[in-house]
Amino acid sequence: MEIKNNRLTGATFVEANAYNKTAVMKPDAIIIHYTAGASGNATVKLFAAKTSKTSAHFVVSEDGTITQMVDLNRKAYHAGTSSYNGRSSYNNFSIGIEISNPGYLQKIDGKYYTWWEVKKDKKTATPEDKVYVGKHRNAVTTMTYWYKYTDEQIKAVKELCQAICKAYDIKEILGHEEIAPGRKCDPGPAFPLDALRADIVSNTKKDLNVSELFKDAVKESASTSLTIGRVKVKLNFRQSPSSNAPLKSSPMAADTYVYIIGSDSTGEWYNILYEMTGWMDKEFVEQDNTDDNYDGELTTNSAMLYNDQKKSRRLVSDLKAGTKFNILDQQENMFRIQAVVEGWASSKYITKI
Ligand SMILES: [Zn+2]
Repeated sequence: MEIKNNRLTGATFVEANAYNKTAVMKPDAIIIHYTAGASGNATVKLFAAKTSKTSAHFVVSEDGTITQMVDLNRKAYHAGTSSYNGRSSYNNFSIGIEISNPGYLQKIDGKYYTWWEVKKDKKTATPEDKVYVGKHRNAVTTMTYWYKYTDEQIKAVKELCQAICKAYDIKEILGHEEIAPGRKCDPGPAFPLDALRADIVSNTKKDLNVSELFKDAVKESASTSLTIGRVKVKLNFRQSPSSNAPLKSSPMAADTYVYIIGSDSTGEWYNILYEMTGWMDKEFVEQDNTDDNYDGELTTNSAMLYNDQKKSRRLVSDLKAGTKFNILDQQENMFRIQAVVEGWASSKYITKI
């Protein structure tokens, strides 16, 4: 696969109805989605329809066929409200890949149903060999059920990401679930996102154009959980935790976002990752915990999420402490929330923010 003039050569191009037709975008991130739909063709038709308000650059069908719908130097509308590592509004700089896949499945009486079958009449269950059982990255322990991606789709998405990384300076490949964890759960655990990232990074040896920051971030995130910091003033970046230590690079500009990967034994210095690792005086780095647009937060260690608020409810997932989300509804002592997947949780564990 090859990208030339912002298009995937050889792929069918069907123009999406809604995208930014004036501003030019310089993509530096790829966002992976599932369509939650029944087929790739249906999604292409949906994005092309005159009434459509959403779009993505690519749709990958079940047989691995890729349809391009927006030029790669134009902003498509796929990410919505989103933030990750101190950056927000991912539509402004990311390429959206929609993989045709029904998504999250509900298990009812031993059978697995897509969301539309649950809404309709539950006549057609998902064949068991199409069901993937796994823990979502935004859940603590609960196993949930997902529609399997085809091998052709996984191969096509990988090759497409490699071609995109060759054509542009891509720093991140992320799931929608990572940039909008309170709202979105795609592509979900059935998609091998971590393996894809590891693959692309190891392929940098073969001249792929992936930045140093992206490689480091993947390496570090495997062992530590990363915290984002904002540098408050123009600040020295040093080789060791001491104000006499040699400088690592020229001073960092105020308002730079960096990864905080640890502290020294005195607790006065942060170990910082920003293209390379070094040290910064803690006093001048502020942890960035801004999570806009969520109106609820889980204030206990974990909580259960159910399909409805009645006594006969089924468990659909669990939630991690500190998870933020949108509260969609309230019935007596339960909130309906969108976190990992949509469901009901006891209001006694939830604080409105
Ligand atoms: Zn999505």
